[in-house]
Amino acid sequence: MPSSALKTKRPIRIMPPELQNQIAAGEVVERPASVLKELMENSLDAGATSIDISIDQGGQGLIEILDNGWGMTPDELELALTRHATSKVTNIRELATIDSFGFRGEALPSIASVSRLTLTSIAQGEDEGFEVEVDAGRVVSRGPAALRSGTRLTVRDLFVSIPARLKFLKTPATEARRCQEAFFRLALTRLDVHLSFTSGGRKVFTFQADEPLPKRLAQAWPPAVTDALQPFDYRQDNYRIHGVAGGPQAAQGRGDRILLYVNGRPVQDKMLLRAVRDAYSGRLLSREYPQAVVFAEIPSQELDVNVHPAKNEVRFRNESAVFSAVRRAILSALEQTGPAAEYSRHAPSFDRNGSFDRGMPNPLGANSSNASQPFLGTRIGVSPGSDFQRRGECELPLDLRPRDTQTDEHWLKADAVASQPAGPSISQAPNAPAFSGPELYLGQLAETYLILRGEDGTLSLIDQHAAHERVLYHSFEQTGQRGDSQPLVSPLQLTLHPSEATQLQELWADLKLLGFDMQTPTPDTLSVRAIPALLTASRAKEYLRAAVSGQAKDIRGLWAMMSCKAAIKAGQSLALDEALSLLATWRGTPDRDYCPHGRPVRVSWSLGDLERLFKRKA
Ligand code: ADP
Ligand code: MG
Repeated sequence: MPSSALKTKRPIRIMPPELQNQIAAGEVVERPASVLKELMENSLDAGATSIDISIDQGGQGLIEILDNGWGMTPDELELALTRHATSKVTNIRELATIDSFGFRGEALPSIASVSRLTLTSIAQGEDEGFEVEVDAGRVVSRGPAALRSGTRLTVRDLFVSIPARLKFLKTPATEARRCQEAFFRLALTRLDVHLSFTSGGRKVFTFQADEPLPKRLAQAWPPAVTDALQPFDYRQDNYRIHGVAGGPQAAQGRGDRILLYVNGRPVQDKMLLRAVRDAYSGRLLSREYPQAVVFAEIPSQELDVNVHPAKNEVRFRNESAVFSAVRRAILSALEQTGPAAEYSRHAPSFDRNGSFDRGMPNPLGANSSNASQPFLGTRIGVSPGSDFQRRGECELPLDLRPRDTQTDEHWLKADAVASQPAGPSISQAPNAPAFSGPELYLGQLAETYLILRGEDGTLSLIDQHAAHERVLYHSFEQTGQRGDSQPLVSPLQLTLHPSEATQLQELWADLKLLGFDMQTPTPDTLSVRAIPALLTASRAKEYLRAAVSGQAKDIRGLWAMMSCKAAIKAGQSLALDEALSLLATWRGTPDRDYCPHGRPVRVSWSLGDLERLFKRKA
């Protein structure tokens, strides 16, 4: 209990209106972005076909909004600033079928109580406008004012009178980004309205009236994302679910590109979010998020919109029906992208013919003497004599044992499979099986999986790409991967989408740490003079594209992407020493059972499993 509470009894009193509003503001006005949202909703509710918004200092210094809606008379203007005054509902039945954003009559008085607000408006058909100025909830001036049409609202010095609130705001850049996101979310619901957003004097978005959804999305999201969007329009029962959904191949490490709407209202809803993610299940890795814009149209009698002061939550009468409709709607979009898209980011197709580049520092280190490479200087196996790397040539570890008969049988079966036309191929380890730690390395399957036999007979397949990814990731984690940069003869040039330029700024320091030497001669061009030693120039370009499109949101994401790009690929044949070296290093790596994206590295069958598979035992 707060220490000052109830030391002496005080009389009960009705709160003065400013205090009522300031307390209500605690719920409605959390930060500048929530003010922007409320004001924009009011303009849309007033029938505006054009709305211009501009902010300064992340909205904390200034939020200004100008609309061409039907405006207010001087009397209405004063009323609008009074708590529980609204033109949008008159009785509780109307609330059930409400089609305006607002209905609580709380936003304007709340905002006015925690800022310096000027409200200017002219009602349709009037010659003169009217203006009221309010400072922390008290009217400080009122009178006629010039305005051509609609309403203009300026909100200055938000929360200056409430230091506790001010303290919770993030940097102006972060608050500006949140304002921008709030604007963008609402802008997608009203494609018929002309909208613009300016931040710190810079025009961020200009949306023309009646432009299609993809055009608006393309202003905010990079081409790598928008190109992969698939439209859908699905009906089930009385529901219509429409929008766009990104192909799994364009999934990203950030979850903020899933935008959900119910009857045109932006909502945050866990159930809807689960329905979207559920549709992608099996197509995405655990830390990947799809992009989707989902408009759910639900009969209003099946909905309760009055469950949250900021009105960004709703309640559904039949949750499971909505869940299933949304899930199926997304699935209908995904079916069009086809199963081929699944996992394509990790699939061999990325680098069919090749290998990590031989001219480059070899991440396996097998033919290289560069001890700074993650694979070098690692002892393989358990025997002190098994360190072939230092001996240079591919000599076998001393403790190699000849294959036993069981293994021969194994190879026989495997060969039989390999000889079938479309069957997987098994390439035998060049110098017969070799021990990798306590396990016997039997060879490579389909130039992708390393086959191991454990001492107890356990059969394991190791995904070579995933294993190498894990090893590289761990080495980045340990060293921070500083330096190791290689200069380019001719700099790489990339043209940047505005959203990519923003993302680049956020990742700039981390990318430098990884070894990129970059310049931006103009805001929308990136020139790269040096790249990490682990990448080729073309890989580096792909890497940067993916990074600025939002695939990685921090240094860990960048490491994971770098590991993926630099790791040996599926479909690449490995020499015995390479395979053993990889296995040995992988064995000494923490979290080795999963790759940085969360895919399994190893799949095993114990003898018991095999017996069950062959129905030798139940
Ligand atoms: P609500 O939107 O829930 O009704 P608000 O406090 O946001 O409550 O607004 C109060 C009233 O002020 C609205 O019902 C509306 O009549 C009027 N109003 C607010 N903004 C505008 C605007 N931009 N144009 C015309 N009328 C407005
Ligand atoms: Mg409102």
